[in-house]
Amino acid sequence: MDHFNYHRGELCAEDVPLTRIAAQVGTPVYVYSAATLTRHFGLFRQALAWTDHLVCFAVKSNSNLAVLKLLGDLGAGMDVVSGGEYARARAAGVPGDRIVFSGVGKTVAEMRMAIEGGIRQVNLESEPEMRALSALAASMGAVVPVAVRVNPDVDARTHEKIATGKSENKFGIPIARAAEVYAEAAALPGLQVVGIDVHIGSQLTDLEPFRAAYAKVADLTRTLRADGHAISRLDLGGGLGIPYRRDNNAPPLPIEYGQVIRETVGDLGCEIEIEPGRNIVGNAGVLLSQVIYVKQGEGRDFLIVDAAMNDLARPAMYGAHHDIVPVAEPAVGAPVRPFDVVGPVCESGDTFQKGAELPQMAAGDLIAFRSAGAYGAVMASEYNSRPLVPEVLVSGDHFAVIRARPTFEEMLARDSIPEWL
Ligand SMILES: *Cc1c(COP(=O)(O)O)cnc(C)c1O
Repeated sequence: MDHFNYHRGELCAEDVPLTRIAAQVGTPVYVYSAATLTRHFGLFRQALAWTDHLVCFAVKSNSNLAVLKLLGDLGAGMDVVSGGEYARARAAGVPGDRIVFSGVGKTVAEMRMAIEGGIRQVNLESEPEMRALSALAASMGAVVPVAVRVNPDVDARTHEKIATGKSENKFGIPIARAAEVYAEAAALPGLQVVGIDVHIGSQLTDLEPFRAAYAKVADLTRTLRADGHAISRLDLGGGLGIPYRRDNNAPPLPIEYGQVIRETVGDLGCEIEIEPGRNIVGNAGVLLSQVIYVKQGEGRDFLIVDAAMNDLARPAMYGAHHDIVPVAEPAVGAPVRPFDVVGPVCESGDTFQKGAELPQMAAGDLIAFRSAGAYGAVMASEYNSRPLVPEVLVSGDHFAVIRARPTFEEMLARDSIPEWL
């Protein structure tokens, strides 16, 4: 459930008509709902209420400081995958002891930043990284709590570009070799083994891959404890999917996901960490855009809009679907017809949807791409020198610009021409 609904004939974010935001901020613009973010975060907390837990928001899904502050103030931890994300989490007021550092290739500089600033746990992804962290921590006189990310070789049954738990993926250490790696970790200076980490992919719409992976984590916990390791935390990753199509079967709910966690690892007495991103913020955001032209093509009509693949990359990158809806509520029974909704960027891949069923549309009309809060703004670029897309946060009947659209001057000022040119 989200808070983007029609009121008095117009699509609103909570109590704010999107037309008002378009008039004041311009388009394209991302619009997030604070009430939806709060609600979704609460659902995960509720799903794990049966145990000690920390819900660590996956910062990579939406890293705006205002979004991080909102969630951090609710008690969320943060899952970061770079020094930049660590800096964002800290700037949003999240203490280091609520930040988990994930990511396949942490540099020494990034790990130093985390040790200096404070870190709850580093999730190790390889033996060379483990040795590098050990050497660094020892040289700094620090002891860093660590978990090893294991690759359980489970098929997440999701899009191949966002599956991470099969043995051919680059993530983690093969679970069969875990005992050996934990033995080395325990022997190295500067590291304190605290748990096990797993993350099998994103946009999972079925609980069975989670169940399979978590059952393997439970077995590994018992093995490692028998080997003398103090496993007190399990980081079970993120990945629970969201409904991208309104008319589709909805993916499982956080409460059902929490039940799978309880059934698989609930008897181990571990603190549970999870790292949801998409499920918290995906349906808490829309991308608001304006129709520039309606163009008659051969056998199809194009809706040329002012958002493009540089603003919302998922359709071009993954063939992803976002429901597209008009901001003006169509009359009941109004006829619809198919449009190919495209952006102005000079790439055929800049197509959001072919054959989107929409009512009569005209230049100047507003549309919204739904479910755009996760992996939307964070993947935006300035390709075609289109200034970085702005972001707005709505709460009740008010809103604030939480990232302003750069002016052309600001965009150009980042380049410099050497004096020898
Ligand atoms: C991407 C990622 C997540 C978040 O995944 P969602 O599908 O957005 O929930 C969590 N943990 C790790 C390690 C990730 O790489």
